[in-house]
Amino acid sequence: MDSGRIVWAPHVEHGFILGTITDIGSTTITVQPTAANTKAITASYNQVFPAELDNKKEADDNCSLMYLNEATLLHNLRIRYSKDKIYTYVANILIAVNPYHDVPALYNQQQVAKYKGKSLGLLPPHCYAIADKTYRDMKVLGLSQSIIVSGESGAGKTENTKFVLRYLADNYGSGDDIDKRIVQANPLLEAFGNAKTMRNNNSSRFGKFVEIHFMKVGRVVGGFVSHYLLEKSRIVMQNSRERNYHIFYRLCCGAPLDIRSKLQLSSPDNFRYLRHGCTQYFIGDKEAAKVKDVLSDEEKGGLKDILLNDYADYTKLVGSMKQIGVSHDDMLDIFQVVAGVLHIGNITFEEGGDSSGGCIVSETSAKSIQITSQLLGLDASALTEALTTRSMRSAGESNTIKVPLKQEQSSSAREALAKSIYSRLFDHVVSRINQCIPFQASDGFIGILDIAGFEYFEVNSFEQFCINYCNEKLQQFFTKRVLREEQDLYAKEGLGLIKPVKHIWTLSQKTLLSDLIESPRTGILDILDEENKLPTSSDHHFTSVIHLKHKNHFRIAIPRKAQLATHRSLRDDEGFLIRHFAGAVCYQTVCFFVEKNNDALHNSLEILVANSKNKLVSQIFKSSQTHSTKGKLNFISVGNKFKTQLGQLMEKLNNTGSSFIRCIKPNLSMQGALFEGGQILSQLQCSGMVSVLDLMQGGFPSRAPFNEVYSMYKAIMPPKLKRLDSRLFCQALFKAIGLDNEDFKFGLTKVFFRPGKFAEFDQLMRSD
Ligand code: ATP
Ligand code: MG
Repeated sequence: MDSGRIVWAPHVEHGFILGTITDIGSTTITVQPTAANTKAITASYNQVFPAELDNKKEADDNCSLMYLNEATLLHNLRIRYSKDKIYTYVANILIAVNPYHDVPALYNQQQVAKYKGKSLGLLPPHCYAIADKTYRDMKVLGLSQSIIVSGESGAGKTENTKFVLRYLADNYGSGDDIDKRIVQANPLLEAFGNAKTMRNNNSSRFGKFVEIHFMKVGRVVGGFVSHYLLEKSRIVMQNSRERNYHIFYRLCCGAPLDIRSKLQLSSPDNFRYLRHGCTQYFIGDKEAAKVKDVLSDEEKGGLKDILLNDYADYTKLVGSMKQIGVSHDDMLDIFQVVAGVLHIGNITFEEGGDSSGGCIVSETSAKSIQITSQLLGLDASALTEALTTRSMRSAGESNTIKVPLKQEQSSSAREALAKSIYSRLFDHVVSRINQCIPFQASDGFIGILDIAGFEYFEVNSFEQFCINYCNEKLQQFFTKRVLREEQDLYAKEGLGLIKPVKHIWTLSQKTLLSDLIESPRTGILDILDEENKLPTSSDHHFTSVIHLKHKNHFRIAIPRKAQLATHRSLRDDEGFLIRHFAGAVCYQTVCFFVEKNNDALHNSLEILVANSKNKLVSQIFKSSQTHSTKGKLNFISVGNKFKTQLGQLMEKLNNTGSSFIRCIKPNLSMQGALFEGGQILSQLQCSGMVSVLDLMQGGFPSRAPFNEVYSMYKAIMPPKLKRLDSRLFCQALFKAIGLDNEDFKFGLTKVFFRPGKFAEFDQLMRSD
């Protein structure tokens, strides 16, 4: 790069800013930004990127820019976003930037019809184009397809998933009930699995893979939903500005009086599981309008009446359940269990009067015990006993003794019970949905994966560990597929065998997964299970074992060595740091890391609920009874269950064709028309997009169709050349100008350039 050149220089807030090179040192470059009154920036070589000559130029596909790098990608997204063009391609990968306002022109019925049957690239980038590509690929190749939608919380994964599902149902549906059922499954899933968080007013707290199945002759025949990792801690506790799952408020605020009185429900303020979180809830339209007046601007920014109007949402939910085919009675059974969970939360304990050190149920919550028992089909005194004592079998004896629990032990048993019932109810809701969209036979499916992206918070625990483990796997898959796509494209265009990549990076990812996380006995998941099975397990001991077993692994470190963003620095046995593909994350283990890996209730509670008189309650607990293992507690490993599920998912993905939608959250305040470059850039890095650009640099990343080159330069060509068809025109031109054969390749429809060579060629043309 020469002095005087226009380049992109790194900038914390904007990601990159435009400037001119003023000095070139041995390791750094100094850039004077074009913006007035901005200080010069000195940065290392690999942080400064060449800019396009025309700064206003935008491209549907980033690969048709002359320079393909993270700065030009970011700028392209920025220009397009300002015009409400929220979708952009990088080759076949779709990037979607959340507009944070409705863009009806993008998703109306005309658009749905317009994209039908059209090849990718013929029309502006869109999730419909991806949906249509998968459908055509499925038909033509006879191969099932998957669409992997990823991005951080609030980036738009679920919205895009819904657009894709609706597109497929509208264009390729069977025209009968089944299409509607598949689409209507979403409001039901969202009612039970979504909540308002600080990052997203309608945040999915679980991952899902929705398959929509087709027959060759007919069309949609059914569907199947798999779900992953529902966030259980939310059921009993929320951050002060967040809420519990939508369903609780919908029942309390929106259900008709007869249902509310049968379920003994009243204002959310009366329930411990609801009142500690954010108290935003809406009783009706009028009240909603009133409450909106007291919200801060930031909260209003992302608000949509429809999201937080619990009253209206209850009605919609009932409508969806009906349309899916859940009978009124089944619906009431489900609601009854939800109400039971709320009442469990109101049971409190106090120190017992005797000398045993145990506790008793507080007098004030005697009524809650009654209501809970009645709603969940339990015997009140058995419930009291199961919450305040634990059955133990003394060594060598066959009879069990009851050991009284301390107040905090009873409280944690109560929370465990609530979490367990709700999460099993969620499993039940998903399987109920699956019963309503059954299929006998299928010739193929399109599966859409909507799962949280890489997470990195101030405090990271077991949940982040699982989700980042999953992202590590998905990233590995993504890399493999993008490489294959590149190679496929080169082959299709007749370029011959070209190695497009650097391999080192993929390899080190593999090591992380196989050595550190998944390996039998020494992987973190197995170490964790072993800890759970110990008579006295502890987060500290678990952490020490990890450090001991992986002392010299370059992907893991003790937290002390790391630069932590946590409030306080951690001791060696309080956490571990993993160097993920998207950055280093410190996992704090002393926040119930080990406990969170256990999905089982203690024995007395397990037996109690499994024998409930309430059919639904006993049904949802039946399946888990077989899992109990020896030791102080029943143990069902969350981590290893997830590993198995993930293994099945990966197998499915490996056996299907794949497309990727990378969703981007444009700003932290959830508002439209605000493009925060710095944090968008970090999302591009975390989603692996920057690595993809890097990866493509090994091959021929810039491409231009022959007719595009023809129209770019025909004006400055002699008439003889102009008469040639566009391919011959390009060949003659390149020969005449003496381009190095190593720098480009001719495909069937396009010319492919080595990195930066398209721009060099362009400059040559314009200077001649
Ligand atoms: P989470 O991981 O928290 O579930 P997410 O990636 O699924 O987040 P969404 O719930 O899909 O995020 O989107 C968050 C909000 O952003 C939506 O409720 C909606 O208001 C807005 N939004 C996202 N995509 C679009 C879009 N294409 N058009 C209009 N609004 C959108
Ligand atoms: Mg979501």
